[in-house]
This record gives sequence, C-alpha cells and structure tokens, in this order.
Amino acid sequence: MDCFIIRYGEIALKGKNRPYFEKTLANAVRRSLRHFNVRYSKIKRVRGRILLFSDDKKAIKALKKVFGIVSFSPADSVELSIDNIKEKVLGIIKNKKKSRFKVSTNRLVKEFSKKSQEINEIIGEAILNQFPDFEVSLDNPQLEVGIEISKKEAYIYTEKYDGQGGLPIPTGGKVFVLLSGGIDSPVAAYQIMRRGCNAQLIHFYNELRAQARVPDKIKRIYYRLKEYNPLLKLILVPFSDVEKEIIKKSPSPYRILVLRVLFFRYIEENLSSLPIVTGDNLGQVASQTLDNLRAVSSFSSSLIIRPLISLDKQEVIDLAKQIGTYDISIEPYQDCCNLLLPKHPETHAKADNIKKILDKIELKEIKPIHLK
Ligand code: ATP
Ligand code: MG
Repeated sequence: MDCFIIRYGEIALKGKNRPYFEKTLANAVRRSLRHFNVRYSKIKRVRGRILLFSDDKKAIKALKKVFGIVSFSPADSVELSIDNIKEKVLGIIKNKKKSRFKVSTNRLVKEFSKKSQEINEIIGEAILNQFPDFEVSLDNPQLEVGIEISKKEAYIYTEKYDGQGGLPIPTGGKVFVLLSGGIDSPVAAYQIMRRGCNAQLIHFYNELRAQARVPDKIKRIYYRLKEYNPLLKLILVPFSDVEKEIIKKSPSPYRILVLRVLFFRYIEENLSSLPIVTGDNLGQVASQTLDNLRAVSSFSSSLIIRPLISLDKQEVIDLAKQIGTYDISIEPYQDCCNLLLPKHPETHAKADNIKKILDKIELKEIKPIHLK
C-alpha cells in the first residue's frame, strides 16, 4: 500500500464550485492528518478523487473523521499499463485466501484505450490462470479487486472504508454551538459540522461549582469533537453571577427560559451575531415546547438552528454513541443549579412575561475563557 483513494459524493455535484470544494476537502484532509500525526508525502487531486500518498495505517483513523469523504481505500499505485496492473494485482492476490472474487474497474478519465469491462476481463482471466482455486462471483464475491484508472496511473485496492459523508469544513460558514454537558448538544455540534460549518462551542458554567477552571467533562467532549474538526474552538463563560440574579429575580417556572435568553444575549452582545446552534429537541423536556422555543427565540436576532428538533431520544443516543460522545456525556456533571430547574416549568411561556423579568435583571461584565 502506498496511497489512499478518497471518494466524495455530494460535493462533486456542485458544478462551478467544484474546484473550491475539492480544495477545501483536500485542506480538511491535511488538517486531520496533522491532528492524528499521520506521515504522508503528498495530496493530489485527480478527476473525481483525492489521492493521499502515505503508507501510514493511522491515515485510516484520520480519514474516517473528515466530513465530505464518502468512502476511501488504501491502495497501490502503478504507472498506467495493463501489464503493470496485472503484475500488481497478482502480487496482491498471492497473499489472499482462495475465494470467490470480482474485478471492478472504474475509469476516472476516459482516455485509456481499454474500457472498464475489458480490463475486468483481462485481469480476471489473469487471476484465474495463475490461481486455479479462485472463482469469479459477480453477485456474491468474498474479495473485490478494485481498479481505478486516472490519466497516468492506476490504483488498485481490495478494501473500502465508509467516510462521514456531509460537506467539508468550512464550506458551510461559521456558527456558534451551545454546548452543555448533556447528550444532545454534542450531537447537534456534530450534525452542523457535518454540513460543513466551522463551529465555536460555547459553554456557560458555574465557575464556583466547577472544580476546575475548565471543567474536565466539557474539555473531553471538546477534544472528541475536535477529531472531526481540528479548527474547533471552545469558549467558556463563567455564569455564576447570572444564575444568582436569575434565582433572585425570576419566578421559578421561568428561570430556565430566562437563562436561555441570557445565553443568546451574551453571545450577541459580547461575541457576534453568527447563527447559534442548540441541542433542543421538541417535547423532550418541559422547557422545549414550541411555545417556549418561540418565546426564547423572540429575544434573539441571530439565526437559531436546532438540528435535533425532530429526532427521538433513542436516535440521538445512537448518534452520540456512533460519534463517541455518549460515554462522556453520561458522566455526572453539575450544569445548571437545581434552583434553575423547577419541578413545574412553564410550558407555554409568553415573551411578555420573560421581558418583565429581564428588565429587573442586572448583569456585570463577564470575561470568557478561550480554548484553541
Ligand atoms: P443537552 O443534552 O444538550 O444538555 P437537553 O435535552 O438536556 O440537552 P437542555 O438542558 O434543556 O436540554 O438544554 C437545551 C440546549 O440548551 C442544549 O442542547 C444546549 O444547546 C443549550 N444549553 C443548555 N445548557 C447549556 C450550558 N450550560 N451552556 C451552553 N449551552 C447550554
Ligand atoms: Mg441539558
């Protein structure tokens, strides 16, 4: 193995934007390789594919995390000729157990004198001649020998790994993601990053209750998500004074909603008006009814994105397990103080009532902590 063939889907459809998307994907691959300390010599764009020249197995872990990749294969490259392909394929087959096999050729450029089907036949025959134990099976092969033909080279592979799909970062632009210590918001972060958005995570916390300047659990969720986007940043906002004010000034059914509004307000006043992504999910908890979501959103002029709005809890849990945040999320963590989480939260909040509470609340300046 001396290279990896990287395949992308959706982004190939983008017409005139295609070179930009390809370049962005190649850069995203570079970032991931650097993040996982993968050795490589170069990255090349050929028609419809990106080629990574590396013999480092760690590349598999890195490529599995890059949004925009549909699938990839460790491969051997040879200078383009039928004899070279044949020789390489036979060398690979020599180390395989006898099996039902299939040869699948794909021409990335159409200049080569032989058609895909002809190449399949020539190579298939060569395998059968040399290894009489092997059998062709087009419908149910145990071994698939893939051949991709580009202008000057051919790439031969027998394994294919699924990628993350989605779009490469940062083609989707920038967003803030409200990150709690729970199960949902890391999944929301993943979902929006998968659409090509570069995210900055923001966590509001009670710095008096947290044992560390940067709560360990939040840091670990951050590092896990950073594997999918090495550009990811985390901003921590100490919010204990705000909590105290809310407990003093707000009736208990409204406290959690006032806190949410103050999250948005803090971001707009102190950071910027980028879109804000949350892990809200309709009806999952009493604070997340349509009326409440609307009342809270009415205090923000930013675009509020809720990628999980329609998912079942089990679907979110499955995703959290798949992306690797679930085990961290279920560890105990003191997020909102219990006094902010009333037994009987308001489920049909009115913006007017929230406004009256906000008018009484006094806020001091708060300095955030930035993690890169
Ligand atoms: P999660 O599992 O993400 O905590 P949840 O279903 O428990 O979600 P809530 O606790 O009501 O829901 O929070 C709703 C959303 O508000 C969260 O998904 C997150 O985006 C945001 N959020 C909640 N607490 C915080 C916090 N301390 N800092 C930043 N964002 C928060
Ligand atoms: Mg929560």
